[in-house]
Amino acid sequence: MTSGFFDLSKRAGCHNVIHLYGNIDRNFCPHCGRIYDADYILTHKPLPLCEKCGTLIHPGIALSGEMLDRRTMNRAIELISSADILLVVGTDLQSRLGSMAKYFTGDRICLINATDHYSDEAADCVCIGNIAKIMHEAYPVARSAG
Ligand SMILES: [Zn+2]
Repeated sequence: MTSGFFDLSKRAGCHNVIHLYGNIDRNFCPHCGRIYDADYILTHKPLPLCEKCGTLIHPGIALSGEMLDRRTMNRAIELISSADILLVVGTDLQSRLGSMAKYFTGDRICLINATDHYSDEAADCVCIGNIAKIMHEAYPVARSAG
C-alpha cells in the first residue's frame, strides 16, 4: 500500500499543506473525472487506464509546461501575504516556488537551502547546507508521522 507514501509533508506531521503542484494520490481521468490513488497507477501496467471509460489517467501533479491550479495558487498567495514569517525550504527565491515570496508582507523571510544563490540576500535569515540536518536542528521535537 503506497497511498500517502509520497506526501512527505503529511508524513512529517505538517498540517494545512497546500500542494501547489498537485498530489500523486489524486490522479484523474481527463475524460470522466474519476479519481485514482497512487496504488492504482503503480499496479496497472503498462499504462493506467480509467476503469470507467478506458482513457489514460493523468497524474495528479502538474506536468512540465502545464498551468498550476489557479484556486490553489490563490490560496497559497493569500496565506503567504498574511503570514508573519515565511520559511522557504529547499529552493531559492528566484525559483517558481521561491518567487512567491514577492507576496509576503510580513516581518522576516527565513531561507534554508542546500546551495547558495544570488537571490539569498533578499532573505532576512539564510541557512545553507544539509536541509534535513538544519531542519532537525531547528525543530528537534519534530517526529515523523509514520
Ligand atoms: Zn474515465
